[in-house]
Amino acid sequence: MKILVINTGSSSIKYQLFDLGSQDKVIASGIVEKIGEDISFVTYKRILPGGSGFEENTEECSIGDHAKGMNRIVDLLVDSTHGSIKDKKEISAIGHRVVHGGEAFHSPTIIDEEVIKAIERNIPLAPLHNPSNLVGIEVAELTFPDIPQVAVFDTAFHQTMPMKAFLYALPLEMYKKNGIRRYGFHGTSHSYVAEKAAEYMGRPLNELNLITIHLGNGASMAAIKEGECVDTTMGMTPLAGLVMGTRSGDIDPALPFFMAERFRLSLKDIDTLLNKDSGLKGLCGTNDMREVIDQKDAGDEDSKIALDVYAYRIKKYIGSYFAALGNLDAVIFTAGIGENVSYIRELCCGGLDGLGIEIDLERNNKNGNGIREINSAGSKSKILIIPTDEELKIAQETKKIIEN
Ligand code: ADP
Repeated sequence: MKILVINTGSSSIKYQLFDLGSQDKVIASGIVEKIGEDISFVTYKRILPGGSGFEENTEECSIGDHAKGMNRIVDLLVDSTHGSIKDKKEISAIGHRVVHGGEAFHSPTIIDEEVIKAIERNIPLAPLHNPSNLVGIEVAELTFPDIPQVAVFDTAFHQTMPMKAFLYALPLEMYKKNGIRRYGFHGTSHSYVAEKAAEYMGRPLNELNLITIHLGNGASMAAIKEGECVDTTMGMTPLAGLVMGTRSGDIDPALPFFMAERFRLSLKDIDTLLNKDSGLKGLCGTNDMREVIDQKDAGDEDSKIALDVYAYRIKKYIGSYFAALGNLDAVIFTAGIGENVSYIRELCCGGLDGLGIEIDLERNNKNGNGIREINSAGSKSKILIIPTDEELKIAQETKKIIEN
């Protein structure tokens, strides 16, 4: 079954076409960028007809709006000589990544009028993302009017959190009237790697207590008890929690007032400072972990301290999630940094033997693909590296929902 997965941003559309069967595979993928600007870019990779290799290319062109971007994607998919499919009717459904489902969505959902209204109602919670996601849905419905469109929400997996974990200690009205609470994000990734861990460990997910650590440009952790999320580090917005590439994560909530008064910064300035100029970038000048590690290896003190701050925050959350869970079956590292940076994993897990989390440094330092176990033989909890694949998970969820 062929499922098209779409992730729409304010000026971009990312897509992957999956062929889901006995072996799930990507048959085409790409991104349309700088939509609406003078020059747009379309980067694509597609399996050629008959499976005779891949073609990759980037073209410069003018893509005035998202609808034109979607048309270009369809042309690339069904191109008569190079397309991966012969007819767009081969696509059975479209899965959309939608950032904020608020409290309305606990699981993926077939999109109808009501669902669109609910996503619209959540715009105040994700003003940068939900409007773009809605544009993606609108243009996909125009281009593919006859097939189901499914919304898969970044927030849905975290909807099992109990009130004690999601409520802020603010006037209760703020939650009841305005939905101000912790929601959490990256849910698709946390649930994907949790399922993979259960498969790997040969045990049912609903018997497992896990701590999942997603370290990409954005970063978050989840505490998963008997297969369900009971806590997560991101909050009402993705600014909370861990130190990220350019986001501060947790800070003293009084700091914005101090900055406004002391430095005469506007709300917008502070928003930019905390979201775009903080995190690793703020501490040592770059948000790219590869560069931070290179700088540290070259003796740069700021980079060394940035990595210490980054990892110490994660380590503290491992401790607090251990307390939330009571006992622990596995710690899971995923995404660009979690999967590739042994130094960070070592800093996060070193010295946790008292919690039954013992890292094996030799295993941790070995490069490899797929799922890797990096705990020592005697460790009570496993430490796993599990590559995430949010698009595949969206495709699988989409298939599941249209088959039922
Ligand atoms: P996104 O959130 O954009 O999907 P990724 O999961 O791709 O992010 O992670 C991006 C981060 O991972 C960057 O900081 C990048 O430097 C880091 N990263 C990716 N691959 C490697 C690698 N092989 N070694 C070190 N860092 C890596």
